[in-house]
Amino acid sequence: MTLGILGGGQLGYMLALAGYPLGLHFRFLDPSPEAPVGRIAQRVTADYTDHAALEKFANGLELVTYEFENVPVEAAEFLAHRVPVYPSPAALEAAQDRIAEKTLFRNLNIRTTEFLPVARPSDFDAAVKQLGLPAVLKTSRMGYDGKGQWILRTAEDVAKANSELPKVALILERFVPFRRELSVLAVRSRNGETAFYPLVENHHRSGILRLSLAPAPSLELPIQRAAEEVARRVLESLKYVGVLAIEFFEHDGRLLANEMAPRVHNSGHWTIEGAVTSQFENHLRAVLGLPLGSTGAAGHCAMINLIGDLPEPSEVLSVSDTHLHFYGKVPRPGRKLGHVTVRAASPEHLALRLSELPAFSYRA
Ligand code: AMP
Repeated sequence: MTLGILGGGQLGYMLALAGYPLGLHFRFLDPSPEAPVGRIAQRVTADYTDHAALEKFANGLELVTYEFENVPVEAAEFLAHRVPVYPSPAALEAAQDRIAEKTLFRNLNIRTTEFLPVARPSDFDAAVKQLGLPAVLKTSRMGYDGKGQWILRTAEDVAKANSELPKVALILERFVPFRRELSVLAVRSRNGETAFYPLVENHHRSGILRLSLAPAPSLELPIQRAAEEVARRVLESLKYVGVLAIEFFEHDGRLLANEMAPRVHNSGHWTIEGAVTSQFENHLRAVLGLPLGSTGAAGHCAMINLIGDLPEPSEVLSVSDTHLHFYGKVPRPGRKLGHVTVRAASPEHLALRLSELPAFSYRA
């Protein structure tokens, strides 16, 4: 049985690694000849808009899923006429646009950051006036890892942003002085079964995830239940199939939904060693309609992203219960090249193990 995956980055790579023990084969479509899955699976190198390539890609596949959310919806729809596509193209569309995403949250009575659409540059000043400062201006589409974002604190920041506004749809959000950032990974199978991983605490720098702590330190049941309720509403409203990630700000003891990703997520990498069933395996189980695996955590984990350069493996692996993942990508500044997961029986042991590791960039 061969599954098709749109996108050929590290998320696809780890999906394939989780699928081989289940007897699955994979075929990837990615426009870049550099896509890391080329090392381990069949790859079609073509643009997502190339219908002939999509046709060839779909031939003989059991189903198609994604590891990248900025696949054109039109490509997902084209494929959906030939082979089942999970999550549905409609779910993909809802998660591609920050305005659509936040509107969905609002319609489902999910608390989200206050926001205003800035459809054209001439709407910008009025939006700033209405929302006030500080605020965050973001491109509504195609943003990731902090790209396409401007933090506005002063009138000078507003004037500068105004002079360089890109001619694309933008969203202005109120700046949230959050206590911390959390994310939940939720999964819903073709049969409607759902499962939720424990909330994870995430630390970003320059918009890029550096460190995740799982389960989130001092995690209390009411906040976990609140995150699950939010995720359940989104899963059910979209009849979602697969893993869905929702990112939150914790502010004044409550959750504010910031964004969602219709795929396995960087803040779920810890589940490979740290949960009974990894997010990758559960995504595959969900799209195949197999029973979901337990999402319980096996101890306490830290996941550190390796960004821009790679450490000496022996320096990392000398710390006990530490696991190294290299994605086989060419090093470039700011590029996610791998990750390290550290596991321990208690938060205190985890802190001790982290202190034994070499100084990664997340500490800076
Ligand atoms: P995003 O692409 O929306 O996940 O934003 C990337 C990062 O920027 C987030 O993880 C936050 O650290 C920060 N950020 C985004 N939006 C806001 C906001 N409205 N208030 C405060 N910080 C934000």
